[in-house]
Amino acid sequence: MGKFKYLILGQGIAGTALGHIFSGRNISFKILDDGHKSSSSQVAAGLWNPIVFRRINKTWRTDELLPAMERLYGSVESKLDIKIQHHRQILRMHGNKPEADFWMEKRTLPGYRPYLLDAPADVAPFRGGEFGSGVVDKAGFLDIPLYLSESRKYFEEHDSLKQATCEGALSLAETKILEGDEFEHVIDCRGYRSGEDPVWSAVGFKPTKGEVLTVKDDNINFDKIFNAGFFLFGLGEGKFRLGATFDFENMNHTPTADGRNELLDKLASWYPKNVEVVNHKAGIRPTVKDRKPLVGTHSGVQNLHLFNGMGAKGVMLVPYLAENFVDYLEMGGEIISEVNISRFFRR
Ligand SMILES: Cc1cc2nc3c(=O)[nH]c(=O)nc-3n(C[C@H](O)[C@H](O)[C@H](O)COP(=O)(O)OP(=O)(O)OC[C@H]3O[C@@H](n4cnc5c(N)ncnc54)[C@H](O)[C@@H]3O)c2cc1C
Repeated sequence: MGKFKYLILGQGIAGTALGHIFSGRNISFKILDDGHKSSSSQVAAGLWNPIVFRRINKTWRTDELLPAMERLYGSVESKLDIKIQHHRQILRMHGNKPEADFWMEKRTLPGYRPYLLDAPADVAPFRGGEFGSGVVDKAGFLDIPLYLSESRKYFEEHDSLKQATCEGALSLAETKILEGDEFEHVIDCRGYRSGEDPVWSAVGFKPTKGEVLTVKDDNINFDKIFNAGFFLFGLGEGKFRLGATFDFENMNHTPTADGRNELLDKLASWYPKNVEVVNHKAGIRPTVKDRKPLVGTHSGVQNLHLFNGMGAKGVMLVPYLAENFVDYLEMGGEIISEVNISRFFRR
């Protein structure tokens, strides 16, 4: 009979980050994952963007999130000899006059200068916008499928991952036994599925379905991420990722004709040529009622923890919050108060 310290439920980008950080600090752990059956990470486009467009504000804690991304994803790239971070600028077509005005105002501020650049005069092959455009620097996309599959191989080789379905986090936290092995803590990283577990009924999960397409067009020659209320970016060999929809009603993994048409119509208003659809996926984001992540310890079960609620920005949020969470678990540090699930247990 073996022993390890942490049992992580779920190998999306949340559980994977914790696994790599534990492994880097020589802390014993095992991940239980059902083979990505309900994975949001496998569907995600993987974008990161330091700017929130409506009012041209920096993403929450951008200046801390970006270095933490490099620390985690950079170290995984070296450890596994893979390339997963693809740095790309974003060409943003302003949605209206106030947004264009905010852009001009913000780009003169010292804290924004590294992120906001002038747009090229020619935005071909897309049509120019009524309100002009700007370029965001320090953005990009993470190759999540490669990151997860290579990490999974690594965890399996180190006997740190088991493929199985968890039937309930509470019973595992109480018995502290997994197939004869003893452990101390459970960390729930099952994405939106954690919200279906009665043990987390007090916590405000509010999932959101999303759809993305992969389209093909050999005539689009564009090396940035195009954004006009939707995004389009190149994957190589004439393929582009086009997304994403937000559906607050239908929580299933079925790609729909409505979702596909919505995305193709949006693209057509900026690029009026037919593109070939080569892939169409749907997933469910682990979004939260107050739109903040869910990190911390259950109020009534001291060895049961949640690392979840990464919403539509998991790629950026996870590395920084994972470091903070592991410091809390291992060194008695404080969880960043805005994301601490204690906010739900106080009510
Ligand atoms: C269409 C779409 C586009 C998106 N685009 C972006 C983007 O561009 N940038 C960005 O940052 N984010 C994006 N997101 C959001 C992103 O996917 C999430 O923030 C992130 O992937 C959540 O990761 P996670 O590890 O918390 O959850 P998940 O990825 O859902 O991982 C949970 C894992 O747990 C497993 N699991 C669930 N239940 C059980 C069980 N009972 N037993 C065992 N295992 C279980 C699941 O199968 C899965 O492997 C997008 C999401 C969608 C749907």
